[in-house]
Amino acid sequence: MQRKAHPLWEAFSRHLESVSSADQLSDLRDEYLGRKRGLISLELKKLAVLSPEERPVAGQQLNELKQQVEQSLLKKQSQFKQQHRSERLKTEGMDVTLPGYPFPRGGIHPLRRVWEEMEEILVHMGFTVASGPEVETDYYNFEALNIPKGHPARDDQDTLYLSENLLLRTHTSPVQIRTMESQEPPIRIVVPGRVYRRDSVDATHSPMFHQMEGLVVGEEITLADLKGTLEVFFRALFSEDTLVRLRPSYFPFVEPGAEVDISCIFCRAKGCRVCKKTGWIEILGAGMVHPKVFEMVGYDPERYTGFAWGMGIDRIALLKYQVNDLRLFFENDVRFLRQF
Ligand SMILES: [Zn+2]
Repeated sequence: MQRKAHPLWEAFSRHLESVSSADQLSDLRDEYLGRKRGLISLELKKLAVLSPEERPVAGQQLNELKQQVEQSLLKKQSQFKQQHRSERLKTEGMDVTLPGYPFPRGGIHPLRRVWEEMEEILVHMGFTVASGPEVETDYYNFEALNIPKGHPARDDQDTLYLSENLLLRTHTSPVQIRTMESQEPPIRIVVPGRVYRRDSVDATHSPMFHQMEGLVVGEEITLADLKGTLEVFFRALFSEDTLVRLRPSYFPFVEPGAEVDISCIFCRAKGCRVCKKTGWIEILGAGMVHPKVFEMVGYDPERYTGFAWGMGIDRIALLKYQVNDLRLFFENDVRFLRQF
């Protein structure tokens, strides 16, 4: 049989409904369950004055009230907690199911990529990578390469001078001299690096560009070795059927000198716009090291022979990626760079 609820229950229930915050709830708890002044505690004290007959009934009624009040308060408290959590989620915007922000990923610059690819092929062929200063002396950049003062070849290279004797190197060839001065043959080096010319910027020119130089010195090295080396290199870089041809040319530091062409990689030597219908693309300058250069570094030109070549990394990158304007490589517009 359901006992009659304590009169305080109704008042508590009404009060509980009007509570709208955790603080108010805490006040309500104190009001009813506070140890000294709580309404229920006061009621419990009143039991002492009741008769022994009335006491158990009233006591039980009060205990039930106390339990109900406690449970109701706990229930309300957990409601507030849940409400608080969902409000926090809303205002702090924390949603673990959202995908992360896109994080831009870097990549290797196309010029660097071609540089590394070229270098790697040559290293596999037994070449060692050598380097030297970009600020050079007149001696290493010209004199020791058989280009004395007043030589017309100096006019071909628009040199950026820093002082009468110091300049920004116009080619990677000074490293040939530095290497030969410091070691005896056999020599097989590849020299990649920046070079500088007083050129104005256009689709095919830049005051700073990149060269990769090769030098092989030993006994009985011939022009056939030069051609064979370049053939192996370009077949690895472009395709197995790439052909190499040499045309006589002149550079002061080689004798004989040659312009080197490769068969057009776009039309397979059939003739197209890029190769101007010739089927060939001019790719680099090369030749057999001039005996005077050997004399400058103290090698015996009767005993040693060698070949050297110098090619533009930028020019090869233009061909490889079919880009028609060198400036795109230096402007570093990420929309361009992202394509590689
Ligand atoms: Zn072609």
